[in-house]
Amino acid sequence: MAARKSTRSRWWRGPLQESESNRGQRAVKILRALKKTYPDAHVPLNYSTPLQLMVATILSAQCTDKRVNEVTKPLFKRYKTASDWAAVDQETLEEEIRPAGFFRNKARAIRATAAELVTNHGGRVPDTLEELTALRGIGRKTANVILAHAYDKQGIIVDTHFIRISRRLALTNEFDPVKIEFATMRFLPEHYWSDFSLWMTWHGRFICPARKPTCEECPVRGSCPAAESAGKVTWRVKTPPEPQRRKPA
Ligand code: SF4
Repeated sequence: MAARKSTRSRWWRGPLQESESNRGQRAVKILRALKKTYPDAHVPLNYSTPLQLMVATILSAQCTDKRVNEVTKPLFKRYKTASDWAAVDQETLEEEIRPAGFFRNKARAIRATAAELVTNHGGRVPDTLEELTALRGIGRKTANVILAHAYDKQGIIVDTHFIRISRRLALTNEFDPVKIEFATMRFLPEHYWSDFSLWMTWHGRFICPARKPTCEECPVRGSCPAAESAGKVTWRVKTPPEPQRRKPA
């Protein structure tokens, strides 16, 4: 009996064989295509100071940017310093931010973080990852948002879009945001980190959403193994082992 010819493409045959340097080159190619596609990409949250960005980012968890901007508009006129945010009582702030959802936790996080800023940083939002992540209400994602967009530093912001698309593009296998952040650092030059994150988010919003990615219109489909499977990830990225450290002679 004649052997049945496989209809699967080369992408479907087991783990992807790709060296780390090839993956890095492919990532830069993807980055260039995204840059061209989203020249006006920007953070959709309204803010004019690091403190405002910090508050808006805390409020943005599980909430649309439009809603966050509606909520913050009057609040940014009322509360201008970290002391103002720390001094407002819990119930008042809860009512003021209620439309953003999870208002109890968010109010607690804003007040606690603001109080820490006053106590430990003279009311200023710090500009290092270590200091930011040491604040009670700030996780790595929020810290990287602040670094990238309030201080113009480099940070990889791993949101749900970034996780989904980097898996579809076979840049990583991981689901864990911190592992994805570190994996991306290994192959993407640092001066691209913040921009790449922004473009990935925009790509996730406009072309590569969770459901029904529009692969036929996608500017990176030539570099994307998921283009043939409508976004389904059916492979493993073969990650080379960490280079062995040489023993001292
Ligand atoms: S080709 Fe499809 S799955 Fe791949 S990044 Fe583009 S839209 Fe997403």
